[in-house]
Amino acid sequence: MRDAEELKRYIRDVPDFPSPGILFRDITPLLADGPAWQRAVEHVGAAVRSLGAEKVAGIEARGLIIGAAVAAHLGLGFVPIRKPGKLPRATRSVAYDLEYGRDALEIHSDASGTGERFVIVDDVLATGGTAAAAAQLVGELGAQVSGLVVLIELRFLAGRDRLGGLPVEAVLGY
Ligand code: AMP
Repeated sequence: MRDAEELKRYIRDVPDFPSPGILFRDITPLLADGPAWQRAVEHVGAAVRSLGAEKVAGIEARGLIIGAAVAAHLGLGFVPIRKPGKLPRATRSVAYDLEYGRDALEIHSDASGTGERFVIVDDVLATGGTAAAAAQLVGELGAQVSGLVVLIELRFLAGRDRLGGLPVEAVLGY
């Protein structure tokens, strides 16, 4: 289990979820296997550390699971980036385009001190719209966005090209 590529055995492809034509990369078998999940957290954690993170931000929903585990593993603080209406105190919000329609992400307005170095974590980088919105949110707090770390990059969608040169590290690529 030293090699990250072996983690692909624990990622299940689900055709046509949540809508026709999407091949969903389901990480729940990975989460359910203790040694594989531990290895995944170590791999994501190594990338987060290499980017010089002082704090980890995770994107709802699966980025919360991975990001929180990685932050605890590294002894760093964790900040949730959530769908609208979930965070209880004053928030900042950024809207972004989806394939069909629009969505938004929110962060607590007081989630960062100025200049703090954040690394953003998510499960999958697809078109990059979600990550771009998250990076904009963290930047609007006055924090520094040092990079994005994902467990899985869907390379054919070229999401990293939408991130304005932000450093991107992916543990697995398809
Ligand atoms: P995007 O904004 O297109 O980069 O989409 C990234 C977000 O959508 C991430 O938060 C992922 O959890 C989710 N996502 C997009 N495509 C997939 C996929 N094929 N399998 C699993 N999750 C996906």
